[in-house]
Amino acid sequence: MNKKTIKDVDVKGKKCLVRVDLNVPMKNGVITDENRINGALPTIKYLMDHGAKVILCSHLGRPYNIFNEKIKKIKPEDEGLSREELVAKTLKKCSLRPVAARLNELLGGKVTFAEDVIGPDAKAKVAAMKDGDVVLLENLRFHEEETKNDEGFCRALAEFCDIYVNDAFGTAHRAHASTAGIAQYGLCKAAVAGFLIEKELEIMGGALENPVRPFVAILGGAKVSDKIGVIKNLLEKVDTLIVGGAMAYTFFKAKGYEVGTSLCELDKVDLATELMAKAAEKGVNFLLPVDTVVAATFPDPIDGEVDVETVPSNAIPADKMGLDIGEKTQALYADAVKNAKTVIWNGPMGVFENPTLAKGTIAVAKALADTSATTIIGGGDSAAAVKQLGFADKMTHISTGGGASLEFLEGLELPGVACLDNK
Ligand code: AMP
Repeated sequence: MNKKTIKDVDVKGKKCLVRVDLNVPMKNGVITDENRINGALPTIKYLMDHGAKVILCSHLGRPYNIFNEKIKKIKPEDEGLSREELVAKTLKKCSLRPVAARLNELLGGKVTFAEDVIGPDAKAKVAAMKDGDVVLLENLRFHEEETKNDEGFCRALAEFCDIYVNDAFGTAHRAHASTAGIAQYGLCKAAVAGFLIEKELEIMGGALENPVRPFVAILGGAKVSDKIGVIKNLLEKVDTLIVGGAMAYTFFKAKGYEVGTSLCELDKVDLATELMAKAAEKGVNFLLPVDTVVAATFPDPIDGEVDVETVPSNAIPADKMGLDIGEKTQALYADAVKNAKTVIWNGPMGVFENPTLAKGTIAVAKALADTSATTIIGGGDSAAAVKQLGFADKMTHISTGGGASLEFLEGLELPGVACLDNK
C-alpha cells in the first residue's frame, strides 16, 4: 500500500483522532453484533500501547441532527413530535454511549464517553486525557455538518488532532468531515491509515492488481445498474466472470430469452449485450445460469412459503419469475470456483432471505468454503449471507464495507483513502 499507516508515525503523547466504524446493530440499547467493535480494536490497542491519546469518533445509524439548532428531515412517523421528544428518541436509538461502555470493558477501563462531539464535554474530557487513554465522542451525525463535510466542523474536530487516523473502511467511500475533510483541509500534522483499512486495501488491492490465476469474480444481487462499474472493471482483470441473482435476467433478455415476470432492467439490455461482447473480446469466460428456479409470484412475506420449479434458463414460462439459480448452475459455478486461485464474490445468487430460494447462494458459499483459492467477500448481502450460513471462518477475507468494497472493485479512488499521506 502506498499510504502511510500508524506504524509510520510517532504517536507517543500525541492526540490521535481516529475515525472508526462503530456503526453496530442495536436493539433497545443493546448491541446485537460486536464485529465492528472487534474490527476496530487492533488499531486502538496499538495506539494505546504506544502512548497515544486516542480520541475515537464514529457515526451510528441514521440519526436526526439533534446537535444543530434546527432538526431537519423529520420522518413521517415522527411528524408532530416536539424537539425534546425527537432528541430523546434519537439518543435512545443512536447514542454511542452503549458502545463506549462495551469498549471500556474490552480495554481495561480506559475509555471515557463524551456526551457531545465538539462541545464542552468533549473538550473537557480530551483536555484531561493521559497518554494511553481513550475518549469516544458522541455520534458524529448528530451534527449535519459531518455529512456536509463542513470546513468549520472539520476545524473544530481538528482541535483534537495532532494525527488523523482513518480506520473506517465502511465509510471510506464517503467524503464526510471525519472520513476525509480533516485531512483534505490540511488540518493535522499527519493523516494515516489504521490496520483495518490497511488490511482491506492490501487484500482487495492485491487481488485486483496482482491476482493468482485463475481469477474468478462472482456477481449477484438485484440490479445490473448497481454493478455496471464493477463488471466493466473486473472484465479487464478476471479469467471468469460469473453472474447470478436477478441481474442475470437482463443478460437473458439480451440473449433473446423469455424472462417471464422476473426482475429485468429493460433499459440496460443493450448494455448487457455490450458487456457480453466485451467479455468475448477479452477472452473472459462469462457464465450465466443454465437453469433457474421460478415461482408464480415473489414470496410475501419474503421468507414465507413458496412453490417453485426449476426450468432451463431459456425456457422460463411467461407467467413465472426467476428467484434463484438451479442445481445444474450451482454445480457449474462450484466447478469454476474449485479450480480458481483467487475468487471475489459480491451479491447473492437469489432471494437468499427465503430458505427455499437460498439454495443457490448457499451452494456458492459452500464452494468458496471448500476451495483452496484466496476467497474475498465484498461486504453487504454476500457478507451477511456467508456469516448467517456459518461459513465466515472459511473465507480468506470478508470486507467490512459494502458500498466501499463495491467502489473499490469498480476501480474508484475512495476519498477516505485518497486523503491520507503517501509513503
Ligand atoms: P444487492 O443489494 O444488489 O446486492 O441485491 C440483493 C438483493 O437481491 C437481495 O435482497 C435478494 O433478495 C435480491 N435478489 C437476488 N436474486 C433475486 C431474484 N432472482 N429476484 C429478485 N430479487 C433477487
